[in-house]
Amino acid sequence: MRSISILGATGSIGASTLDLIRREKDQWRVVALTANSNAAELAKLAREFSAEIAIVADEAQLPALRDALGGSQVETGGGLVALNEAAARPADITIAAIVGCAGLAPTMAAIENGGTIGLANKESLVSAGEVLMASVVKHGATLLPVDSEHNAIFQCLAGNKLSQVRWITLTASGGPFRDWTHEQLALATPAQAVKHPNWDMGAKISVDSATMFNKGLELIEAYHLFPVGLDKIRIIVHPQSIVHSMVEYRDGSTLAQLGPSDMRVPIASTLAWPLRMDTPCEPLDLAAIGTLTFRAPDEDRFPATKLARQAAEAGGATPAVLNAANEIAVAAFLAGHTGFTRIAAHVETVLTRYTPPPPASLDDVYAVDAEARVHARALLELV
Ligand code: NAD
Ligand code: MG
Repeated sequence: MRSISILGATGSIGASTLDLIRREKDQWRVVALTANSNAAELAKLAREFSAEIAIVADEAQLPALRDALGGSQVETGGGLVALNEAAARPADITIAAIVGCAGLAPTMAAIENGGTIGLANKESLVSAGEVLMASVVKHGATLLPVDSEHNAIFQCLAGNKLSQVRWITLTASGGPFRDWTHEQLALATPAQAVKHPNWDMGAKISVDSATMFNKGLELIEAYHLFPVGLDKIRIIVHPQSIVHSMVEYRDGSTLAQLGPSDMRVPIASTLAWPLRMDTPCEPLDLAAIGTLTFRAPDEDRFPATKLARQAAEAGGATPAVLNAANEIAVAAFLAGHTGFTRIAAHVETVLTRYTPPPPASLDDVYAVDAEARVHARALLELV
């Protein structure tokens, strides 16, 4: 029996994780399940999985959560302090699946426990890369990448040395607009952006996939997880999302990981690591798929990957500013306050206007993140 906490249990990654746990319930003990504000859904999950504790980050939802869990054994809590305390409860594995930099503090709390962290919440690694990785080392935690590309790379690196790597190649679906013209992109709506052709995901990452910021964030994520140097990490567009990423070695061998476009595969690989577990996913039928295609990314129509690479090169606080500005711009786009192509333009402007010194601590990262959001909101005239 292993214990598990899921931060962001009501989201897309949370649901996929719980779907796998549900199939072998007798092997898991659920410690903490958390959500932002959906108390009803969280309560339902907490009851189903007999969680030790359920937390809503939005404290105003705590009475609703308490009501919904009345008569059960599940402890409840609300607000950020309660969220961090729950994340700090010992668990064999914690799935960090909150969206955005909001996941940073609870993810850090879990890391400080020294257990195993399945990291889906890429924004925390983008914003606090050095600080987070240093904490992993300091507390002897094991960081396993859930993001499909990084999970693929992790698998392709098994048994090999980073020093032998020639290239790490991140594959990108290119998102729903990969063949759209500049003119079409300028008119793209939120409903169109969240309809991803291959993956069923939360709204924020779906918009990120459409702008290619998702791949930009993943470039920075890969840079921290697999320290081969930025110049050895590249991106290729692969519309079928079957090859999840690749590692080429100095001898010319390229190892790739293939699988269906279903996050339960990388999540299962994380949950069972270093073993394997069953998933309900259909076996890969390459004969039916027939063709796998690859092409270079178009950074003219999708400048996000270029901005992310520049931010990673600049280092220090720049990736945290990029991430915060993007989070604000994506929320503004989803709310109908700004256009699709304005997202990258907006991030670029915030990056030129706000250039804080490198963060030395977690508190510095939070301060940079908060201040970047103020700049980003002001620029969008949201304040
Ligand atoms: P989602 O929007 O479906 O779910 C997000 C979860 O975080 C929900 O449980 C929500 O209640 C919680 N949450 C949101 N804001 C919060 C806040 N301020 N405080 C506390 N909790 C909050 O998102 P998702 O698609 O599951 O993505 C989660 C993370 O995993 C993201 O970082 C995303 O980039 C990453 N990821 C997702 C996928 C995918 O297929 N969905 C793939 C790779 C990586
Ligand atoms: Mg990914």
